[in-house]
Amino acid sequence: MAHFIVLLGPPGAGKGTQAKAICEALQIPHVSSGDIFREHLSKQTELGKLADGYIKCGQLVPDDVTIRMIGDRLKQPDCSRGALLDGFPRTIPQAEALDDLLAKMDAKIERALSLEVPAEVLIERLSGRWSCPTCGRVYHEKYNPPRQAGICDDDGTPLIQRPDDRPETVRQRIEVYRSQTEPLIEYYCQKGVLVNIDGTQSIEAVKQDILTSLAGVR
Ligand code: ADP
Ligand code: AMP
Ligand code: ZN
Repeated sequence: MAHFIVLLGPPGAGKGTQAKAICEALQIPHVSSGDIFREHLSKQTELGKLADGYIKCGQLVPDDVTIRMIGDRLKQPDCSRGALLDGFPRTIPQAEALDDLLAKMDAKIERALSLEVPAEVLIERLSGRWSCPTCGRVYHEKYNPPRQAGICDDDGTPLIQRPDDRPETVRQRIEVYRSQTEPLIEYYCQKGVLVNIDGTQSIEAVKQDILTSLAGVR
């Protein structure tokens, strides 16, 4: 059976950090809408340029474009086993569209993991976040530093800071999360698939809670 898992949580909650362990445990691909938009931007595609206008100011890319992009991704053969959805859905219309897409594949969301972290912590996490432009791995200068400052452990690439991680943009992104994405917690709760995770714990403790919550999904 295919396993579709949604990772919910505000920007900086730790979704990308936890993705690898989940994907390894369930043998499913990591589908991050933000990563796909950034890949388009680095290739300067029309979609990338359009998305960048929204990303820069901390707004959501319009639903129609985003839903089409994820729909195409979920049609790739590796998603026949399922997928870990990170950063999608972010609105109720996206969640409804996802349910329709999955219904056509004879599948549904098995768990929605909501990583809960208060706003003050998010700003500190994002202002110290460094990511690898080659492999996407994320670090934190204080909480999860690379072995050598500014260099990816896995491939030696110089790490970068995301322009939208500046505190002004982060505040806007948190606001957008509260108004447009947080209603999804209730949406998935009503479907009986929601699991709340305390995202303020250490990276290792969060990982253990997540893996425990996935027992039974195999
Ligand atoms: P998201 O994908 O939800 O936006 P990330 O996984 O990129 O969040 O994490 C944001 C930042 O916080 C990164 O710099 C990451 O290293 C750091 N981080 C993630 N989880 C924790 C944690 N449990 N404790 C401390 N820092 C964390
Ligand atoms: P993330 O990498 O998840 O922090 O996303 C970075 C930015 O990409 C967001 O601030 C949005 O502008 C855009 N984005 C990512 N996922 C979505 C989505 N599901 N819907 C709309 N915009 C998105
Ligand atoms: Zn790397």
